Amino acid sequence: IQESLKRIDDNIWEIPIGTKPGMNVPGRIFLSDKLIHNLEPEALDQVANVAMLPGIQKYSMAMPDAHLGYGFPIGGVAAFDEEEGVISPGGVGFDINCGVRLLRSNLTVDDVRPVMKELTEKLFQSVPAGVGSKSRLRASDSELDDIFLHGSRWAVENGYGVEADLEHCEGGGCIEGGDVSHISSKARKRGKPQAGTLGSGNHFLEVQYIDQIYDREVAEKFGLEEGQVTFMIHCGSRGTGHQICTDHLRTISQASKKYKISLPDKQLACAPAQSDEAQNYFRSMICAANYAWNNRQVITHWTREVISDIFRSDMDELGLDLVYDVAHNVAKLEEHTVDGKKKNVYVHRKGATRAFPPGHKDVPQAYRDVGQPVLIPGSMGTASFVLHGAEASMDISFGSACHGAGRVMSRAHAKKEFHGEDVKSDLEKSGIMVRAAHPSVIAEEAPGVYKSSSDVVNVVHDLGIAGKVARMMPLGVVKG
Ligand code: 5GP
Ligand code: MN
Ligand code: MN
Repeated sequence: IQESLKRIDDNIWEIPIGTKPGMNVPGRIFLSDKLIHNLEPEALDQVANVAMLPGIQKYSMAMPDAHLGYGFPIGGVAAFDEEEGVISPGGVGFDINCGVRLLRSNLTVDDVRPVMKELTEKLFQSVPAGVGSKSRLRASDSELDDIFLHGSRWAVENGYGVEADLEHCEGGGCIEGGDVSHISSKARKRGKPQAGTLGSGNHFLEVQYIDQIYDREVAEKFGLEEGQVTFMIHCGSRGTGHQICTDHLRTISQASKKYKISLPDKQLACAPAQSDEAQNYFRSMICAANYAWNNRQVITHWTREVISDIFRSDMDELGLDLVYDVAHNVAKLEEHTVDGKKKNVYVHRKGATRAFPPGHKDVPQAYRDVGQPVLIPGSMGTASFVLHGAEASMDISFGSACHGAGRVMSRAHAKKEFHGEDVKSDLEKSGIMVRAAHPSVIAEEAPGVYKSSSDVVNVVHDLGIAGKVARMMPLGVVKG
């Protein structure tokens, strides 16, 4: 399959139709020469497989951080016709609405360096992390329903945030149209004690500082400047999202057979978009997405409490505003232009974020004239980035960008390659505090298991999908 790759442009490669029999559209991979050698052939194969699904529009796409995933590659973007297309849980992923948010502050790197040990420790104590970790918050059944249907609004109405948090969040922290009646009791049981928990592995709460500004005008709009401390939160819908995905994969797999959809890989199980099976999944997925937003909002509140406590000052004085929150594992019904015609499509972004450009109606008013903030984490030892959605994204990638640096090494391999304690002390020597639920997590998540975040970000920047605004370096990381 690598031999079939056709270069379209500096950063665009195509898998032509016919490379594998049954492809409905070509595959498109966004990669620079620097990154082309990092791409697994298995992930390329997955891009070609997705191109075979019914009703897929334009291209089956993979972002520069792409790697092997469940059925669809992580870093995959695929849009399906509202009527003729399909919905597929594998195109969203198990951690429904995993995503990233960024808080700004009035603190400078010099303010926080002296207290980093205490800050990291207190954040670790306040925000439950690790597999199966439980929250201080226990949601009742009716509260869980509220969270499923209203997302971050539940948190804000219950004292875990302010109205402005909702304005500065993708979709206002909620997707409308959720339905709790196809969520199993097992998924509910897993959800109740976990609202306000980070989870394990790749999820993190990081203290960072801005060491470079690329675009002063946009940075100012986002409230960002050089030397400033920021807080980045990465987590998703925890056990409940995983369970909802697992439950519906079963019914969707049966539906694939029932509707006679031929699948190149059974992990690509999908159902016609308007079928009951697909819609039941979709409305449950919305609930999990809302759960994830609420989760990040509750964590935001506890993060602010810790910072206020350490700096003996309130959140307003500290300027702890939410810059933005992006989902990077979700399917959404959106309007896009295909072959010159406006139409509704189910855009599946799995390990990909939105990058809506200036003027788009779904960009919050405050950012409307510069495009939405696009948040790209790097690793616990390397740079993370803020970009802004740019003009070309709607045309090139259904308004999408990459979601991170992307792994180059499996977790199992990483554990052989690295020792958690060594990685931790190396990071500490370079001024980065790490606090993890377990040392093995640090090995699995060592900076060396990821691609270069700046190489990845440069691809979307050069393509005009999203423009670089600011670069953040880690100071302290809480890991699940
Ligand atoms: P995913 O959602 O695919 O698990 O991860 C998203 C991205 O987060 C990864 O591709 C990686 O670049 C980034 N990442 C993972 N761990 C950390 C961390 O501890 N700190 C930062 N800043 N980024 C991380
Ligand atoms: Mn996740
Ligand atoms: Mn994620």
